[in-house]
Amino acid sequence: MHRKLNSYFIYTGYTLLAVSILCLITCIVAYPYTDPVLWGWSGIGLLIVGSLCVIVPDRLQAHVAQQNNQLWQQDATSRGWSAWLLGVVLTGFYVLLYWFPETLQGLILAFEPLSQWLRNKPSDHWFVYGALYTLAVLLMGVYALLKYRNNRYHLIRTCSVIFFQLGFAFLLPGLLLAFNQPEFYFSYFWPLKYDYLFPGTVGYLIDNGAALGVFMVFWGAVISFIATPVLTYFYGKRWYCSWVCGCGGLAETAGDPYRHLSDNSRKAWQWEVAIIYPILGFVIITTLLLWANSWSGGTLFGDLSGGFSSAYGFFIGSIFSGVVGVGFYPILGNRVWCRFGCPMAAYLGLLQKHFSRFRITTNGGQCISCGNCSTYCEMGIDVRWYAQQGEPIIRSSCVGCGICAHVCPRGVLKLENGPRENRYAGTTLINRDAVNILS
Ligand code: SF4
Ligand code: SF4
Repeated sequence: MHRKLNSYFIYTGYTLLAVSILCLITCIVAYPYTDPVLWGWSGIGLLIVGSLCVIVPDRLQAHVAQQNNQLWQQDATSRGWSAWLLGVVLTGFYVLLYWFPETLQGLILAFEPLSQWLRNKPSDHWFVYGALYTLAVLLMGVYALLKYRNNRYHLIRTCSVIFFQLGFAFLLPGLLLAFNQPEFYFSYFWPLKYDYLFPGTVGYLIDNGAALGVFMVFWGAVISFIATPVLTYFYGKRWYCSWVCGCGGLAETAGDPYRHLSDNSRKAWQWEVAIIYPILGFVIITTLLLWANSWSGGTLFGDLSGGFSSAYGFFIGSIFSGVVGVGFYPILGNRVWCRFGCPMAAYLGLLQKHFSRFRITTNGGQCISCGNCSTYCEMGIDVRWYAQQGEPIIRSSCVGCGICAHVCPRGVLKLENGPRENRYAGTTLINRDAVNILS
């Protein structure tokens, strides 16, 4: 009876989702012949109800130990045709958003009432993107909360990414605009938000934000150069990548069903190292060039520094982080951007590997080599290899999501923030309860 009721809800949910997509398409393509607010909000309302009708019974009817069952059998999560279709739709949306925003005019107007209410400003394509992004984190946040409902670490972590996305990356920037202050994201920092320490942005914030603008610059610089090393020393990069960052927030919620698609081959690891550190170097060089140019009044490098900045914004900021980073979730896994492209992840990773107390300890004798940990590691780390050797995992790419430990049937893995002495020792040598500040 219970199962029948669940199936009824799930089928109703899929039907509502199909109708919501039709409404949203009508809102976009039939503008100006239809009412964008009516069609847009009908679509979004049905999207919310339909998603919850699917997510809640689907997650609740599966036992906590069966939440990943059949991921490789289902078309949508095993690179089947529906996964490719979703990938094409997502990448297509990003292409329109970045380069042809006028085609989304219907959707932009649908968000006009919300934009006026929150920001006291007309809606634009970036506001639409922010709102849809936040909605995705909220809805799939419910999915993650139900999926990991037996694990306190994941419940708190999921609430944290929802809080930072909704509060710091959506509501607060909107309210700042409503009070005629510069739009500013307090949860994004240089080098991820690369332009926050560019002279142009610093000058704009100070000129337009008065004391608050000075505080924004101060906040960005302090977090980038002081708080980031200190927090990473104590907790590893997880404090940011799995608890605060919006990109990580989307990956841990909307991207969770695709985490097993990450390539954990050695070749992928080599590509990762070959791409992510040059990108970090590119941001550092661009920032230094821009400041040198600014101090010399533009005489030192002429347009060269501006060219660096534009090239980075186009290739990395737009194509890599958006089109590939999110659009390819259903094909390449949920952390492509974090793993191969994010300069903040590279910076945090260097700190984590060389100056942090964080490590994942492995109790090798208990490992039965089932491979669950490697399969569900979204960063493509071959966790099982470390477990088999009884070696701690001290990898710069590990975002400390903790899923490897969650899916291990033998309790082999433990995320720890112990003293740096014996950090490379095999089995844990310290009192776990005393040091698991974040776990
Ligand atoms: S090693 Fe574990 S904690 Fe680190 S990224 Fe992979 S699954 Fe997450
Ligand atoms: S999930 Fe646990 S038991 Fe299975 S291979 Fe990984 S560490 Fe070993």
